[in-house]
Amino acid sequence: MRVLRTFTVNPSGQTVTESQKSAHISAILSARTFVRSIAVRRIAKIWKKLSFLVLFAFLAGGLYDFRIALFALACMAGPVAVSVFRGRFWCGNVCPRGSLFDSVLSKVGMGRKIPGVLRSRAFRALVIVVMFATFGVGAYHSGGSAYGIGQVLYRMIFCTTLVGAALSLVYSHRSWCAFCPMGSLASLVARRKKSARVLRVAPSCVSCKLCHKECPLGLVPHEYKGDLLSHPDCIQCGACVLVCPKKAIGYKAR
Ligand code: SF4
Ligand code: SF4
Repeated sequence: MRVLRTFTVNPSGQTVTESQKSAHISAILSARTFVRSIAVRRIAKIWKKLSFLVLFAFLAGGLYDFRIALFALACMAGPVAVSVFRGRFWCGNVCPRGSLFDSVLSKVGMGRKIPGVLRSRAFRALVIVVMFATFGVGAYHSGGSAYGIGQVLYRMIFCTTLVGAALSLVYSHRSWCAFCPMGSLASLVARRKKSARVLRVAPSCVSCKLCHKECPLGLVPHEYKGDLLSHPDCIQCGACVLVCPKKAIGYKAR
């Protein structure tokens, strides 16, 4: 009985043991996982590059019906929710406005350094207060209807996109991200949570400082040599990963 349960016969008539069978099944499963992870990576790459089109569709659709702007609430909650376990990953990889900055405006801007005042804690706190107060007052006066709240959101997103785009033309294309209220809140969460699922800088770094020159937020990745790139404002955009001649930055860099 034991022998019958342990051995089976494959289509070509050869005897297959249980361990060979389970090795075969796990090979198929890992191949599937591999294919799936490639597909997910491709979709993520396309999204990162082209999701600014979603922003354009959103802005055009909002003119037709302001209630469409309510979808923006998900995009506002996203950075903070994701920051609990992955730092500001959302900002650098999922945000459609970030895609606009990276895919379009980075090609035409002057790329000057972000002014220190825009990165200061006081300014960031002020932006959070002003934005939430504007939203709260606007929502109150709208009577709480979906249409009214959507209208408030739409105006805020339209105006902040214009501000971000204008700054991108003169300063770094990610200037807005230095003080975006949701990004700042995500940064606060990231500072407290200290996720391990962020980029790393390997000891093979030769301190050429190219990563610092490339970082759109003015961070200094090579200062984290041999450690996690744990700066709470790192949006994991990957610009430093691409420029590093030693391939010393990555999620698996050791
Ligand atoms: S670009 Fe790479 S090698 Fe150069 S300083 Fe940055 S991490 Fe180090
Ligand atoms: S440190 Fe690297 S990944 Fe982080 S924001 Fe700067 S360039 Fe992007």
